[in-house]
Amino acid sequence: MKHILEAITADASPEEFAGLEIPASYRAAHILKSDEQMWAGVASKDKDPRRSVHVGDVPTPELAPDEVYLAVMASSINFNTVWSSIFEPVSTFGPMARLARESEWAKRHDQPHQVIGSDASGVVLRVGAAVRNWKPGDRVTVHCNHVDDQDQTAHDDSMMAANQRIWGYETNFGGLAELSVVKANQLMPKPAHLSWEEAAVNALCNSTSYRMIVGRNGARMKQGDVVLIWGATGGIGAYATQYVLNGGGIPVCVVSNADKAKILRNMGVEAIIDRAAGGYRFWTEDGQHDEREWRRFGKDIRDLVGEDPDIVFEHPGRQTFAASMYVAKRGGVVVSCAATSGFMLEFDNRHFWMRLKTLIGSHFANYKEAWEANRLIAKAAIHPVLSQVFPLEQTGEAAYQVHHNMHEGKLGVLCLAPTEGLGVTDHELRATVADRLNLFRR
Ligand code: NDP
Repeated sequence: MKHILEAITADASPEEFAGLEIPASYRAAHILKSDEQMWAGVASKDKDPRRSVHVGDVPTPELAPDEVYLAVMASSINFNTVWSSIFEPVSTFGPMARLARESEWAKRHDQPHQVIGSDASGVVLRVGAAVRNWKPGDRVTVHCNHVDDQDQTAHDDSMMAANQRIWGYETNFGGLAELSVVKANQLMPKPAHLSWEEAAVNALCNSTSYRMIVGRNGARMKQGDVVLIWGATGGIGAYATQYVLNGGGIPVCVVSNADKAKILRNMGVEAIIDRAAGGYRFWTEDGQHDEREWRRFGKDIRDLVGEDPDIVFEHPGRQTFAASMYVAKRGGVVVSCAATSGFMLEFDNRHFWMRLKTLIGSHFANYKEAWEANRLIAKAAIHPVLSQVFPLEQTGEAAYQVHHNMHEGKLGVLCLAPTEGLGVTDHELRATVADRLNLFRR
């Protein structure tokens, strides 16, 4: 890969990039199908990504006509990196085997290994015969919506496509690697004021939060809405908080320690709940709901902002879901994209129907939403929430830290980029937001 890095450093021409040899194998963080059962009988918290994520050479797949080879400069850890590496809630080798049955090209995804990772920034090396809008040498970020756009179910909202998948999670050839294969319609321009690692951490979480809060398919927040945000300095929560602040909403941010509360104050958030200090016990020791605790939590929100949330940004799942459904205002919306603490959810339906609330299920973002979310990053209206950067070899360690909630914001991973701080081309714009780029840095 040395010749590729040299071409990127020298800002080679499209022709020179197109002439570069694509190596027969590349270094990648991957999991193995043969490890699928390695955690049988082990509690989730004890499943250690440092043991299941391997970093080594894998064979380069052929390029389909609608795809590009990407030299990956940086990538990021998402919570789905954790799910893949602990084989929960299901092994990702099942979805890839099903994908392989869809077409001749899709067969490539069914391998004894999976290259994981659903974010990337990098440089286009080679384009397939059907790619029109991108050329070798283009600097890009990648969103993870993997769809067959010839299927009519994809045409209105590509997240509704019957064959929608998350690249690097439900497909192979993901971003935690020196090379990747992505569909051309996953590409977006790299924000020029950001380094490779800053540009790499946004697409998955930022687009998800955009759809949930801003887009027409989510809660459609309007000025003055009170928005309760769980995990407000986590991957998706830190972007959600920015969308609420930018859009004239009133964020009520939940976090679990004073350091995270400080980050939020520096972002301009006034209403903050430290859930650890609050000691909320929505579930009793014997596994029953405790409505008194929902009320106490709701009262704490009212004490801070004087009213109930119009919108609840929900993702912790089983541990918080009933409280979220309870505290949403009469006619309010709970928008959910995940269930980290357990996906079999219970809530008191009386508070739901009698108070005319709405529950919206949300998942990643369609092409348009991902593009709009990237546009806001490129305009420096929304900022990356990068806190730490790891080399590719330490992907397992980075995933371990996310699994155990030891992080803030996003963890970046350097792939081909030899050091942090490279790749910035618009220094002028960067200078105007330099302080915002460091809010999460350790
Ligand atoms: P992070 O781990 O970065 O952040 C989640 C935050 O939620 C944590 O920092 C923690 O914050 C808070 N949290 C965790 N557990 C609990 C709990 N039991 N009760 C209350 N708060 C809790 O993860 P992400 O933000 O990246 O992702 C969150 C979830 O959303 C994951 O399950 C992920 O898989 C999913 N997801 C789904 C997407 C989709 O498209 N459907 C896209 C992206 C993510 P604190 O301790 O400070 O309160």
